[in-house]
Amino acid sequence: MSQIPDDAIKCLDKGFVRLVDSMGGDDAIVQAARVSYGKGTSKVSQDRGLIRYLMRHRHTTPFEMVEFKFHCKMPIFVARQWVRHRTANINEYSLRYSEARDEFYYPDPEHIQFQSSLNKQGRTGEVPEELKKKVQDYFKEISHRSFEIYSELNEAGVARELARAVLPVNLYTEWYWKNDLHNLLHFIGLRSDSHAQYEIRVYSDAMAESVKAVAPFAWEAYQDYVVSGLRFSRIEQSLLEQNLPARVIEDILEDLAYQITATLHKNKPRDENGLYSLYQKQGGSDSEDDFKLKWDSGEIETGNVRELREFKEKLISLKK
Ligand SMILES: Cc1cc2nc3c(=O)[nH]c(=O)nc-3n(C[C@H](O)[C@H](O)[C@H](O)COP(=O)(O)OP(=O)(O)OC[C@H]3O[C@@H](n4cnc5c(N)ncnc54)[C@H](O)[C@@H]3O)c2cc1C
Repeated sequence: MSQIPDDAIKCLDKGFVRLVDSMGGDDAIVQAARVSYGKGTSKVSQDRGLIRYLMRHRHTTPFEMVEFKFHCKMPIFVARQWVRHRTANINEYSLRYSEARDEFYYPDPEHIQFQSSLNKQGRTGEVPEELKKKVQDYFKEISHRSFEIYSELNEAGVARELARAVLPVNLYTEWYWKNDLHNLLHFIGLRSDSHAQYEIRVYSDAMAESVKAVAPFAWEAYQDYVVSGLRFSRIEQSLLEQNLPARVIEDILEDLAYQITATLHKNKPRDENGLYSLYQKQGGSDSEDDFKLKWDSGEIETGNVRELREFKEKLISLKK
């Protein structure tokens, strides 16, 4: 079984993730999207804006144009969770064809914890040193003994496909795993989440490094709109509608009117005299004097006009 290659990210005690190959990047997402939206722009800032728009609106197929192929080595119990992600193409080390290697996962003491009583699928708390030592000893004992039996059966000529069944699930396996960016982000969303098991999280985090490098705009948009994006259920929205003071919403809307005006002006500079009416068209209600004071303060942030307007729509929908 493979040793840790130089260009791989080490995971757990003996595993790794290595990006073998990738096809496309942010450019491939933009190129595919433009087929949908017709001839477009080509500035880098506009490419970024388009990718952010696609991510925000869950227009996912352009993200499927980017492909990643990884070589990964992980314990079998991690592979069992991993393989549930059905959109990948996989080719795994065969224990029917090849002999198993004496490579087992032994958890670090810091990851040996108690069963969580709150989260039935989690661990928590500090385990006494004595118990940690016992866990590690048992892991080693069962691994060594099962491998001894496996080797004995092998030497006696028993079929490898059967002999392997005595090996425990902390045995390392390895595979090539290929997936597209959309589904890889779905994987990362589930497996880098704090609710995922630590042992698969480290692999997911390692693959995330490749996404950051290959498609940085897509990664940034994913962080902004998926990881940090909040969605409210109908019930939650109704609570917000009932309890959020109108004044708070009005204040934010006012701020947005300034931001939209400043962004429009930044994108296509307007005549200074027309700025106040532009601000009023965005729903701004400050007097002209107050507008000038604020405008001259230089404190108005700019953003993306479409995104700011989308936020405005959401806020208006919260007003009773
Ligand atoms: C924290 C956590 C705990 C879990 N606990 C359990 C558990 O206790 N028991 C258990 O069995 N599993 C468990 N799972 C696995 C989970 O139920 C999913 O099988 C796994 O996360 C893969 O998700 P997926 O199907 O969305 O992903 P993928 O298989 O990658 O699919 C991506 C998307 O493609 C679509 N898709 C793919 N294939 C099909 C198909 N054949 N039919 C329809 N749509 C398809 C779906 O929209 C899917 O969301 C757990 C996962 C997590 C993250």
